[in-house]
Amino acid sequence: MIEIKDLHKDFGKNHILKGVNLTIHRGEVVTIIGSSGSGKSTLLRCINMLEEPTSGDILFKGDSILSDEYSLSQLRTHLGMVFQQFNLFENKNALQNCVIGQVQVLKRSQKEAEKIAMDNLCKVGMGEFQNASPKQLSGGQKQRVAIARALSMNPDCLLFDEPTSALDPEMVGEVLKTIRELAAEGLTMVVVTHEMGFAKDVSDRVVFMDQGVIAEENTPEEIFNHPKELRTKEFLKRIL
Ligand code: ATP
Ligand code: MG
Repeated sequence: MIEIKDLHKDFGKNHILKGVNLTIHRGEVVTIIGSSGSGKSTLLRCINMLEEPTSGDILFKGDSILSDEYSLSQLRTHLGMVFQQFNLFENKNALQNCVIGQVQVLKRSQKEAEKIAMDNLCKVGMGEFQNASPKQLSGGQKQRVAIARALSMNPDCLLFDEPTSALDPEMVGEVLKTIRELAAEGLTMVVVTHEMGFAKDVSDRVVFMDQGVIAEENTPEEIFNHPKELRTKEFLKRIL
C-alpha cells in the first residue's frame, strides 16, 4: 500500500533521513521504534506530506505522492494521522470533532456524517461522551475521540505518532486496547511507539530506526528475542 524508496530529508544543513526504504502492505501493522531523534516522526510526517522529502519517492497505492499532480487533500483522507497531542478542536464536542472533516472534505451530509461519527465513537468506547467538549475529557478519552475522528474518514491506513506518550500511565492501556482492536480488524497501521510490550504483541513487523536509517526490521519475535544488529541490541538493552 505504501512504498518508501531511498527517502532523504534535510532540515537546513542537518541530514535527518538518510535513505529510508520501507514497504507497508495492506492489512499490516508496522511499529517503528528507536531512540529520540532517530527520525521516526520525520518519517511519519513525510508519509502524509506534513514534511516534504528532500529526495527519494513515496508511492501510495502505486502513485507517487511527490508528483505535482498528486492531490494532498486526497492523500490525507486516505491516510489518517493520530498525534501525541490529540489536536482536537477545543471548541467542538466529541461528535462534532468526528463530523467536521467528513462534511468539509468528503462532502457527506450532516446526517450521514453524524451516524458514521457515532458508530466510530461507540467503537472506541466513547459513545456516551458524544456531547462532551475536549476540556471535559481525560487524555485517554481525548485520544480515543481523535482515533474515532480519523476512522470516520474511512482511511486506508492510519499513522500514529506516539499516541500514548502524552498520557498519564493509567490511561495508556485504554488507548492501546483501542489500537489493538483495530489491528484485529485488519486495518493497516503504522505506529511509532515507545511501548515495547505493545510493539511486541500487536505488530506484524517491527522497524528499528537509528540515526536516520532503518537499522533492522523483522517480526517482533526476531527483533526482541534475536536482534541481529549491535545497535538494535544496545537500544533494547537500554530500554527493556
Ligand atoms: P522522538 O522519539 O524524540 O519523538 P524522533 O525519532 O521522532 O524522536 P524526529 O522528531 O523525527 O525524531 O527528529 C529527528 C531530528 O530532526 C531531530 O534532531 C530534530 O531536531 C530534527 N527535526 C525534526 N523536525 C525538524 C524541523 N521542523 N526543523 C528542524 N529540525 C527538525
Ligand atoms: Mg517523534
